[in-house]
Amino acid sequence: MAETYDVVIIGGGPGGYNCAIRAGQLGLKVACIEMRGTLGGTCLNVGCIPSKALLHASHLFSAAQNEFASLGIKTGKVELDLTQMMAQKSDAVDGLTKGIEFLFKKNKVDYVKGRGKILSKGKVEVTDADGKKQVLETKNIVIATGSEPATLPGIEIDEERVVSNTGALSLKAVPKKLVLIGAGVIGLEMGSVWARLGSEVTVVEYLDRILPPADAEVAKEAERTFKKQGLSFKLGTKVTGIEKTKTKLKVAVEPAKGGAGETLDADIVIVAIGRKPYTEGLGLENVGGKTDKRGVIEVTDHFKVADGVWAVGDCIPGPMLAHKAEDDGTAVAELIAGKAGHVNYDLVPSVVYTNPEIAWVGKNEEELKAAGIEYKKGKFPFMANSRARTNHETVGFVKILAEKGTDRILGAHMIGVGVGEMIAEVCVAMEFGAASEDIARTSHAHPTLSEAVRQAAMGVEGWTMQM
Ligand SMILES: Cc1cc2nc3c(=O)[nH]c(=O)nc-3n(C[C@H](O)[C@H](O)[C@H](O)COP(=O)(O)OP(=O)(O)OC[C@H]3O[C@@H](n4cnc5c(N)ncnc54)[C@H](O)[C@@H]3O)c2cc1C
Repeated sequence: MAETYDVVIIGGGPGGYNCAIRAGQLGLKVACIEMRGTLGGTCLNVGCIPSKALLHASHLFSAAQNEFASLGIKTGKVELDLTQMMAQKSDAVDGLTKGIEFLFKKNKVDYVKGRGKILSKGKVEVTDADGKKQVLETKNIVIATGSEPATLPGIEIDEERVVSNTGALSLKAVPKKLVLIGAGVIGLEMGSVWARLGSEVTVVEYLDRILPPADAEVAKEAERTFKKQGLSFKLGTKVTGIEKTKTKLKVAVEPAKGGAGETLDADIVIVAIGRKPYTEGLGLENVGGKTDKRGVIEVTDHFKVADGVWAVGDCIPGPMLAHKAEDDGTAVAELIAGKAGHVNYDLVPSVVYTNPEIAWVGKNEEELKAAGIEYKKGKFPFMANSRARTNHETVGFVKILAEKGTDRILGAHMIGVGVGEMIAEVCVAMEFGAASEDIARTSHAHPTLSEAVRQAAMGVEGWTMQM
């Protein structure tokens, strides 16, 4: 007689593993099925963690070459050991994925290795790497199968010369010429890594701006800064094909609006045009589950696909971010346990881990204008922040947007060193429905970069004091 679980989760990424851990904490009998061989999903294996390991190391490499001398630090010749840089990245990934296995044991979660398929309500078949099958019986199924890189028609990703985010994190040598398709978050992070290590990077973007979801003023400042760092941009441009010769890639591009094309030479092409939900072979149809035309699983506002079937993370609507997936997973575990699980998608922060970092939460100016919402704006440049000046890291600014009548904060948009950490302050304030004055009157330690947030908040009412 098969054992009956309270919850069986398909997928061990941030959505799935957090759901599993929370369900275990709440005393539910839970299993998590993962086919990759390691836990942590895209995020830990081929996403957030390895990309940040390479961003950190390549930033220090670039700083040692370009900034240390001006700080009075002599290094001698700075050389790249790419093999070691990749090894320290793998160490970070290994440590963190094993950490989740430990957390599973601690919270009595059964880790089932293999590919999960929903057979019917309450029944999930698991096929392991040797083809052996077993069926898990459960009261609830949680789909947390995540996403995979989106592809361009006619462009084949071989993960050797034409690579997705996965191949881009494991190149064997620094390409001389790198063409990056897509000026979104993942593309700009990968472009930054390889540019710092010595590649000549050309970013081709279909739209006429970079970072489409970011506030336009922030995106403009980012573009200016990245250009100074050596990235070149072909905006309003589409890739129509890639010809592979023995030694080179010939990337055919033309204006998005039509017109004469040109060919860009490249050693490596990174395709970073976004991600799409992954539901292959899942058996969603066996429980009446549906997807929209982009493959996103349809759910109610409480993550329900069908009776006893739930879905979380990148495979459902909402921002494709690890912390959103984590919050979804936690909420579903709580709902299954009879608690009130809820995620506020309006306050999921976004961070781009370039140098400087870019971070935002809530609505941007374009969205507020489009919605006809009257707002006030406070803006403070890091050039006027004493800590930023001390550190010689003065690029960027903080912008706070607040509702005209009530002063309630509607959004915060930042570009500058360390803003990926600073955005959390505004998220907490916004969760509590804070006014800009609440931040403006809160003591911030001096000298810190976060004083720029306070000064920007002061600016909403026109009393910025340090500028
Ligand atoms: C290069 C890169 C950098 C990124 N950086 C960031 C970042 O800095 N911050 C951030 O918030 N987000 C980042 N992301 C996005 C983040 O990785 C995803 O939003 C997050 O991983 C989504 O979590 P998930 O659990 O929904 O899905 P995933 O992490 O995709 O996990 C799904 C898991 O399910 C498994 N699976 C699928 N189908 C089955 C099946 N039938 N049976 C068993 N297992 C199955 C897959 O093997 C996978 O391990 C990045 C992504 C990339 C690609």
